Amino acid sequence: MDFQEYEGIFRKYKDIFQKYEDFFNREKYPKFSLESYLPMDEEVCVCLIGKHYKDCCKKKLDEAIKFRKENFKLVEEELNQLYFQKDSKLISHKIEEKSVNKKSISYCSAHEVFGDCNHDDSIVHSHTLSRGNVLNNLSSGNKVIRFNDHKVPDVETLEKEISKFYSEVPIRKASVTVSFCEKHDEELFADIEKDGNTDYSGTSIQNIEYSLKAITFDIYYRIMNIFYMAELISENKYATCNSDGSQSEYFRNYHNSVKTLFRLHPLMLKMLNELKQLKKQEVESELETIYFELPVDRINLSLSEVIEFEDIFCYVNVINSKKPYIIVSYYKDRKRIISIDKLKQQYESCNDKNKQLFYLWNFIKELLINAINIYFNKTAFNKLSDAAKVYLYIVHREGIADIPFEWQDIHDAEIMGILYETSS
Ligand SMILES: [Zn+2]
Ligand SMILES: [Zn+2]
Repeated sequence: MDFQEYEGIFRKYKDIFQKYEDFFNREKYPKFSLESYLPMDEEVCVCLIGKHYKDCCKKKLDEAIKFRKENFKLVEEELNQLYFQKDSKLISHKIEEKSVNKKSISYCSAHEVFGDCNHDDSIVHSHTLSRGNVLNNLSSGNKVIRFNDHKVPDVETLEKEISKFYSEVPIRKASVTVSFCEKHDEELFADIEKDGNTDYSGTSIQNIEYSLKAITFDIYYRIMNIFYMAELISENKYATCNSDGSQSEYFRNYHNSVKTLFRLHPLMLKMLNELKQLKKQEVESELETIYFELPVDRINLSLSEVIEFEDIFCYVNVINSKKPYIIVSYYKDRKRIISIDKLKQQYESCNDKNKQLFYLWNFIKELLINAINIYFNKTAFNKLSDAAKVYLYIVHREGIADIPFEWQDIHDAEIMGILYETSS
């Protein structure tokens, strides 16, 4: 395949996904059986070109399952070629490049609620981490560190080549999406971005603005992921099955991505509506916010992310706004999040600074496991031993379930030491 001329899926659905109304139209995405997770025959095909599944990829995929069972070795070789290419040739990389840099996935998130957007052409690259409070305050030499989301190889390879699993990015390229027009990107985040407004004081309006950063990132990322799935099926017809012909996680993951996208969309609208009213001082926000002011000068990581706790979507931000804060917001439709309330209580009733930081650490580890939109200070990160970097990567990619406690304790202490920074 000639990757130089890669237009991939973006050429195919240029007419189908053009504007906000397209990206947030449930009818443009496939539907799946809730028992088997197989795509429904009379709904849009997983390749997203708009035809019904049964008239599009179904036959090809069914045949691929049969072929894979009978030609095990041949298929594995083909797949290895596809998955072990240089970064720049991986489908995920190409999709990100096209979506963000070339703006193939672009819309203004405020379109439906605020309206009156700048003309389409002015959809800008926006930072889903606030530029001042988060990125500038986190960076050293205008650079930050992020995880490279490769599959985790064996630990030996990871140890030998650990530098490949992190990259250094200039802050102008960190955490970028194309999800606001220029006007709304400026207007909507005035209370956390504008000079003089950058101190965090826990106002409703600030909490909503930070939450909006988190949810708009997550939604953009999910749409990108769905497009990745659509492209994967075009390049690798074996993606839907395991080597023995059984069903892989593909359809299930696809189903979950679409489902989550359309669970998050109304929450984003609710947030935008509240923000609109709040700017006119007309309402109380229903958003529940719990924040932790850290007893250190700085925290050497930042993130803005939607993470589920106790089946409720939470909008989590870690920032350095003069003081460092962890801010967790959510809409409590039915209930409060007990584990976070407990943590807050424990945290507030404790006078020992080190104990406080220790309590928070388990929560931060939870964030490390779940976050995608997460960045580290470069100078601090470079102080970590290679062993700690390996550990951090495994925690991020696979969680802590398989890591022995002693190993966790040793590395946690080292990582805490560099993430929590005090000048004295
Ligand atoms: Zn298709
Ligand atoms: Zn707009």
